[in-house]
Amino acid sequence: MLIQAPKGTNDILPEDIHRWQHVERMFATLCAQFGYREIRIPVFEHTELFFRGVGETTDIVQKEMYTFEDKSGRSLTLRPEGTAGVVRSYIEHGMSSQAQPVKLYYNLTAYRYEKMQKGRYREFHQFGMELFGAADPAADAEIISLLALFFERLGIGNLSLNLNSIGCPVCRTDYNQILREFLSDRIVTLCETCRDRYDRNPMRILDCKEESCRQQVKQAPALLDHICEDCRGHFDALCSKLEIMGIRYAIDKGIVRGLDYYTRTVFEFVSRNIGTQGTVCGGGRYDGLMEACGGPKTPGIGFGLGVERLLMEMESQCLEIALPEPPLIYIGSIGDRAIAAVETMCCDMRRKGISCVKDVMGRSVKAQMKYADKMGTRYTMVLGDNEIESGRAALRDMKSGESKDISLDSLTDRLLKFKEA
Ligand code: ATP
Ligand code: MG
Repeated sequence: MLIQAPKGTNDILPEDIHRWQHVERMFATLCAQFGYREIRIPVFEHTELFFRGVGETTDIVQKEMYTFEDKSGRSLTLRPEGTAGVVRSYIEHGMSSQAQPVKLYYNLTAYRYEKMQKGRYREFHQFGMELFGAADPAADAEIISLLALFFERLGIGNLSLNLNSIGCPVCRTDYNQILREFLSDRIVTLCETCRDRYDRNPMRILDCKEESCRQQVKQAPALLDHICEDCRGHFDALCSKLEIMGIRYAIDKGIVRGLDYYTRTVFEFVSRNIGTQGTVCGGGRYDGLMEACGGPKTPGIGFGLGVERLLMEMESQCLEIALPEPPLIYIGSIGDRAIAAVETMCCDMRRKGISCVKDVMGRSVKAQMKYADKMGTRYTMVLGDNEIESGRAALRDMKSGESKDISLDSLTDRLLKFKEA
């Protein structure tokens, strides 16, 4: 039987890779401009990390993790997101002793056992960022402004920025009680997971994707109306900073985000174009996370941005991304002497940084040229016994269709000049 890629995974083919490379380059450049450094973390971690770092009552932990035992019986999990692993690394490498704030970014794959839909996969890619050590709303504003600039540079218009505050553990304790009271006579209509959440973490019910639960929480009291004075001050300060920077936002009291560790600021950039899976990016503050993972008390803020959804959005806005340049020249050969000469020439040219291609299949010159044409090299040249003897050959410019008789000795210099131009 033919083996196919597992459900929910995608190959990224050479035809598409330039789109990925483009957004990856733009993101890395932007992060560097804001003083963020790249971090790379393992694909799998001890399962326990995600219990603590994502939260035991979240959909991710309760329903979506790829957890397995390795050969020595350890429970490991493929990372469902990046933050928990980065926090683990921060603690493990004592980054709290580094100059604060510590600003990190990443580009990684994440794994969730989800129902396959457009924009929802089992292996997907996230760009993310974590800013540790800064509790000030200026940090929240910086992260959001970086994202706004990222979308602007990519030419993506009309993503809406939705903002909310989900308070701190203090205001949340009071709110949880208010929410329980609201839900008390609706509890029988909730899904099984949410019935369990009612006692453990009722706020999670607000983020449940089950239709019956969604109906029930529509009229639920909003946390934003019940946050404490400090949290309100933080939220208002963030809003006014965004206004000063000219970043438009809407307050959405319904955002709670899918991870348990968020505090205060939560935000999403949502597309109006790509359908139900419209959240391109989600993030927020998580001042309690570091301690929950066994590290020193350290405030933090970050986001995860779905690269597949970002590319879907760019496609829906018809944003063209330039194709990469094909190799500069194809040098065809006829006969053994030419084959040997072309091999030497290509070695020399590649050493000098010229991209050139030649036959590696022992094919006829006709087949070689057909291949060159498909590849779209700017120049072609064919060498046979005559050309080797005379030291001259026709350099054909495939764009203009013109051929020029040149000496083989001058070929490299000509192509180098073309490359520099
Ligand atoms: P959703 O509400 O769509 O399930 P989420 O709250 O689970 O999203 P986060 O954990 O905040 O998402 O992840 C950040 C971003 O990663 C999302 O905004 C989205 O763009 C992307 N993302 C999350 N899950 C998937 C997935 N299964 N497939 C593709 N992209 C995803
Ligand atoms: Mg999800």
